[in-house]
Amino acid sequence: MQNNKFQRQMVLMHALIRQCRSGLPPELEEIALAEGLSPGRMADAIARGHIVIPANPRRTIRPVAIGAGCRVKVNVNIGTSQGRCDPELEMVKAEAAIGAGADALMDLSTAGDLKDIRRRILSLPIAVGTVPIYEAVRRAGSAQDLTADLLFSVIREQCREGVDFMTLHCGVNRDALQALNLDPRVMGVVSRGGAFHIAWMVATGEENPLYAEYDYLLEILAEADVTLSLGDGMRPGALIDSGKLAKMTEYLTLGRLSHRAQNADVQRMIEGPGHMPINEVAWNVKAIKEVTENAPLYLLGPLVTDIATGYDHVVGAIGGAIAASAGADFLCMVSPAEHLALPNKEEIIEGTRVARIAAHVGDIVRRGGASESPEEIRMAYARRDLDWDAQYAEMLFPEYAQQIHDRDSERETCSMCGDLCAVKMVRDLLQKKE
Ligand code: SF4
Repeated sequence: MQNNKFQRQMVLMHALIRQCRSGLPPELEEIALAEGLSPGRMADAIARGHIVIPANPRRTIRPVAIGAGCRVKVNVNIGTSQGRCDPELEMVKAEAAIGAGADALMDLSTAGDLKDIRRRILSLPIAVGTVPIYEAVRRAGSAQDLTADLLFSVIREQCREGVDFMTLHCGVNRDALQALNLDPRVMGVVSRGGAFHIAWMVATGEENPLYAEYDYLLEILAEADVTLSLGDGMRPGALIDSGKLAKMTEYLTLGRLSHRAQNADVQRMIEGPGHMPINEVAWNVKAIKEVTENAPLYLLGPLVTDIATGYDHVVGAIGGAIAASAGADFLCMVSPAEHLALPNKEEIIEGTRVARIAAHVGDIVRRGGASESPEEIRMAYARRDLDWDAQYAEMLFPEYAQQIHDRDSERETCSMCGDLCAVKMVRDLLQKKE
């Protein structure tokens, strides 16, 4: 588990944005320093909405900073489904994710005793997010039977229970629906939350309550100091859909909503942007950043091919690394089971590790390149010197690497080239010459 030293009781600190206008609360100074930022700079970035720290004051967690100038963070989704409802297993997966380096968890449960599952996940010491419409639809029986009152009451309850950030699909409004009808997509809508809102709007003919009553939503979140994650209900679900109108329509709406959240002292981040070809990733990141005034950006993927199913964690990491190097701040783990099944524990661990690689690749670029990445520099010297202990000290996954290296009992070099080790050969030659 990373950054254990920051685990602490969060004191009640309503409206962190407001507090940061006059400086960083002392209990967050260590977080700033760990990110390589001065407390003053971090306070300024939080006050401007360029960094968020999702941490509900009602819980004790190890908070993390997400946004400009911070290390890229990794979220892991867990949660039951109707297809597989085993709350015990979800706890095992949650703990495995934390062990593999997750910075945050999202509970996406849709089956079983949702409150009890959430209570158990909220007992873990890291930031936890939810998608309240899942529980609201479960309680209503169907998306069509949902009411605005029920949805807002679930949001208020989850705020009180200690949820740190919430995905709320406020941008799935009539404009987005009209764009979807005007410029249809092969995959329609692939966001579960987005689909619920579309179904409700079509059934009732009314506007999405999260959009229509957005000021009221902001009041609830500001009072609870819960971070708003503006959901990407219109994200494309296939590469062929990436250029369609609905996604861009939602971006513009999220830009306006982001601005209003910031003015209401609500910490907010933006979600996006779905499946797309690799050459579109960077400009999508930059476009979202531009219209949202550089709000922290939280991504699932992006998935840069649709036909590598079973390896979607790799596909997501390729997109995630490009996105993080272009400015995305928070990557959601994609597991090898994506598009196939609810992931098991091993798939959660694998997906989390691969997402951490993508985050680190992005960090190298965000920090200014290899010359500003001390661990990369130390690794180069350790490899040159065939110093295996020094190499393990820099690796993201040293135990796994050591298992592979040790299996052929090679000590000084490795069994890849054995006595023809290029590194050793050139080093010995140069040493002899000297
Ligand atoms: S044996 Fe080959 S792969 Fe292994 S350290 Fe030497 S050059 Fe690298």
